[in-house]
Amino acid sequence: MKQDSPSAQKIVPVLVPLPAAKPYSYSVPDGMDVKAGSIVRVPLGPREVAGIVTEGATDSVDAKKLRPISELFDCPPVDNGMMRFMRWAADYTISPPGMVARMILRVPAAFDPEPPVPGLRFSGQQPERMTGARSRVLELAGDGLAWTRTGLAHAAGVSATVIDGLSAQGVFEEVMIPARPVVAPPDPDYAPAELSGDQADAARQLVDAVASRGFSVSLLDGVTGSGKTEVYFEAVATAIEQGKQVLILLPEIALTQQFLERFHDRFGSKPAEWHSDLAPKTRERVWRQVMEGQVRVVAGARSALFLPFQDLGLIIVDEEHDPAYKQEDRVFYNARDMAVVRGHIGGFPVILASATPSVESQVNALQGRYTRIRLTGRYAEAAMPDLKAIDMRRSPPRPGGFLSPALVEAMNQTLQRKEQSLLFLNRRGYAPLTLCRVCGHRFQCPCCSSWLVEHRFRGQLVCHQCGHHEPRPEACPSCGTLDHLVACGPGVERIAEEVEKTFPDARIIVLSSDLMGVKRLRLELDAIARGEADIVIGTQLVAKGHNFPNMTLVGVVDADLGLANGDPRAAERTFQLLSQVTGRAGRTGKKSVGLLQTYQPDHPVMRAIVSGDAEAFYTREIEERERSGLPPYGRLGALIISAGTRAEAENHARALRRAAPHSSEINVLGPAEAPLALIRGRHRFRLLIHGTRKADIQNFIRAILSAGPKERGSVRVQIDIDPQSF
Ligand code: ADP
Repeated sequence: MKQDSPSAQKIVPVLVPLPAAKPYSYSVPDGMDVKAGSIVRVPLGPREVAGIVTEGATDSVDAKKLRPISELFDCPPVDNGMMRFMRWAADYTISPPGMVARMILRVPAAFDPEPPVPGLRFSGQQPERMTGARSRVLELAGDGLAWTRTGLAHAAGVSATVIDGLSAQGVFEEVMIPARPVVAPPDPDYAPAELSGDQADAARQLVDAVASRGFSVSLLDGVTGSGKTEVYFEAVATAIEQGKQVLILLPEIALTQQFLERFHDRFGSKPAEWHSDLAPKTRERVWRQVMEGQVRVVAGARSALFLPFQDLGLIIVDEEHDPAYKQEDRVFYNARDMAVVRGHIGGFPVILASATPSVESQVNALQGRYTRIRLTGRYAEAAMPDLKAIDMRRSPPRPGGFLSPALVEAMNQTLQRKEQSLLFLNRRGYAPLTLCRVCGHRFQCPCCSSWLVEHRFRGQLVCHQCGHHEPRPEACPSCGTLDHLVACGPGVERIAEEVEKTFPDARIIVLSSDLMGVKRLRLELDAIARGEADIVIGTQLVAKGHNFPNMTLVGVVDADLGLANGDPRAAERTFQLLSQVTGRAGRTGKKSVGLLQTYQPDHPVMRAIVSGDAEAFYTREIEERERSGLPPYGRLGALIISAGTRAEAENHARALRRAAPHSSEINVLGPAEAPLALIRGRHRFRLLIHGTRKADIQNFIRAILSAGPKERGSVRVQIDIDPQSF
């Protein structure tokens, strides 16, 4: 930070949450003590925003234009590891540092410290008459520390009127105490699980990794139901004992009530939650308490990676293969990969857990960069479900239906045994396509390149890209014929209809994100776990993590669904999803079955699932990636060029392509229409940058962007390093 003589006014660079290439300069008012990492409020045009003071030189600014910092937030500065991580993330993703700072600054511009709350402190005055309840209260309060009224009543196991009675006698004096933390600190010794032999071995390796306090990555690779959570909780306990903060990333945090409860059972308190559904006040409080170190453990969605931890000592990425870890908005990043970098920068261990690790992580383990720790069997008496493919060519459903006789029969037997069935179909709504039987008209979204999906419960046709919806008409808008529209293919609502007809007495629950909010979903999941449904029909929401003790049959309605799109990752993704969803069956000692309805029973994915030979599947996938130089044996980046007209987008994409430098290590493919060619009225083209493993694709992309035309008019260019689909 330089002194700007002759006025000797101190000027500092401040990152503001904007896509600017550089920090802005602000003057520091006399007496304000700012340093790198300080969080400040600064004027920006007519507004005020939160910003982070950074290091480095400031640009010279006209003294008249220079504006002072308005306020230094009353909180510790962002720590050095986080500052380095922020710079690294901006560099790797080719994003303006201000946009990464924006992910850290999840606070309002006016940052009110939590006001103190009234509390009670023992005055030294004894009560007139002692009772059992009163003595329990005084036992706690006698040490002279302050309590809130309800906190003390709760801890002593008495009603609040007992406290009020004592107050009336002058036993307590009123004091103001700091606002209570959102969560009590977890206790590592609260209720450790008794681990099986294999679990104990795995836990020991993880605990050793945490105890050695350096950077390492462990891949906890254990089948569904093997107890990965119980095992990594031991590593969490060790980190807590060391006084470190812990971050547990979960792909679907809004749905992980069960997880929070298990954590509570083990550690005696819940971790702080962090995800996009938090109320603004809660969000602000958690953010602040993470920064001040009061929150010791956070369980959160990918954005929790950008919380301002003071002393982070362990990150766990549960279900590390999950595509939900990829953010594809503003700053494109994969939270799993970023977690590893965060651990590297901070010098602490990272644990990746999955029953179906990503090919990338498998290769890292094979090559010795990650330590693979395996759990090959389920915990206790639970056995893996017996998995079978149903060849739909041989056992077709009845006309108009989607469930084969073999699946219906299995459901029937499950009902008879008073056990639960799950039917999985990864498609919301009633039917993915509606067409006119007379003229062939298909209902398409007016602003996206996708068909409108009929949602019969809501009486609408809905675009799953942009949310556009319209009432389902009676007549064809093209030829005007009445009552000749047909629904093609199934969604979960249509399966529910078939199940209701087939099993009229069964209790059915349909789980789909469009039918309910998070709260309702959590209630439904609890109801299922308590056995209050016979048949559950759901989208991928039901595939993840849940334990339903009485579920003994999982039927996959369309196991081929994910294989059709031609993406080289399709087989891996389908394998992962099918393993996860069939893994919901048989969590207790009961015999369980998983049935896959498929037209391709010989497909390697179906074979791998049915035989249980994951190893063979991965070996093949890895060979395939190596042969074609795809990640992790090569590097990929994508430029997504969008514009209001197709021609503008395509022309800009071509011009960028022409601007690409020559390189022996890197190829540019395209431009081609992006996988979703039209979204919300914006036409999209894609350039794929494919390099060797050692190639610096970031530099290559920077060269394209600086030599090529700049964004103008309606044209926008997004950068996606390590794209999900290739
Ligand atoms: P995974 O994450 O590997 O699918 P979980 O950690 O969810 O497996 O464990 C599956 C079930 O087994 C859970 O209900 C869990 O509470 C139980 N379980 C696993 N290990 C133990 C243990 N050592 N003691 C008690 N219960 C366990």
